[in-house]
Amino acid sequence: MQHFLRISKYIGSLPDLVQGPGGNVSIKTNGHIVIKASGFCLRDIRKNYGYIKVKNSPDMIVVANGDSSTPSIETFLHVLIDSKYVIHAHSVSINVFSCMKNGEQELRKIIKLPFLFLRFRRPGADIGRELKKAIRKNKTLPSVIVLQNHGLITHHNSAQKALDLMMITDLYAKKYLEKNGIVPFKVLKERCDVNNHLFPDSVVFFTKNKMDIALERKELFFELYSAHNYILDSISKLGKTPNFLSASEVKKIRNMRQEKYRKNKYAILK
Ligand SMILES: [Zn+2]
Repeated sequence: MQHFLRISKYIGSLPDLVQGPGGNVSIKTNGHIVIKASGFCLRDIRKNYGYIKVKNSPDMIVVANGDSSTPSIETFLHVLIDSKYVIHAHSVSINVFSCMKNGEQELRKIIKLPFLFLRFRRPGADIGRELKKAIRKNKTLPSVIVLQNHGLITHHNSAQKALDLMMITDLYAKKYLEKNGIVPFKVLKERCDVNNHLFPDSVVFFTKNKMDIALERKELFFELYSAHNYILDSISKLGKTPNFLSASEVKKIRNMRQEKYRKNKYAILK
């Protein structure tokens, strides 16, 4: 548990890896999985706060609705990965590539580690099914998984190795951006165009109505806006084309009950 708490806090305090309530860390022990609760921020996780323990079985997804303490929408994904530690982050540096056309080809040149590139699927059961298919097809699952238009997963039975893989993979992308004259990510007090979406959290949390966000949460929303702007700017500076989520994907994400829950929970949490 110490590793779980430490990694959650560490990853969660790096805005270029985790913005707002995004990202996740899980640990499997004795037939259970401990994972961040839906709508909470990784950086806020501490002993007996912000996480939940559920049965480590694909069936857990049926209990993942509506309670005051609901496991992360991505729990299914974590359950499907056998490793003891799973770390999931929304690395802006990786997402520059995961959100561009032909991004996989670019990443194959940049990341000097074997990785799986998982094509875009909605968070929750859909992305879980896509991963299941990939596991069946590839037989072995690389310890690094890039989620198209979403982020990065690393996993290992050693907590330190899972974390190292996360930091190294992110660094490959960071270094490449730096070499191309792109300055590191910074959170700015800016909003963004909410009509085009690059990643699921923008569909869930970007809103045209500023009033439906609790005042004390506003600061964290700037992280999401800044991530969107950074990814888009960087793609343009690299002379590439952004790959926005399709209108039908946006609509599907918007209508997800679990995502509505997460948004409401996040907006009221202090
Ligand atoms: Zn995610």
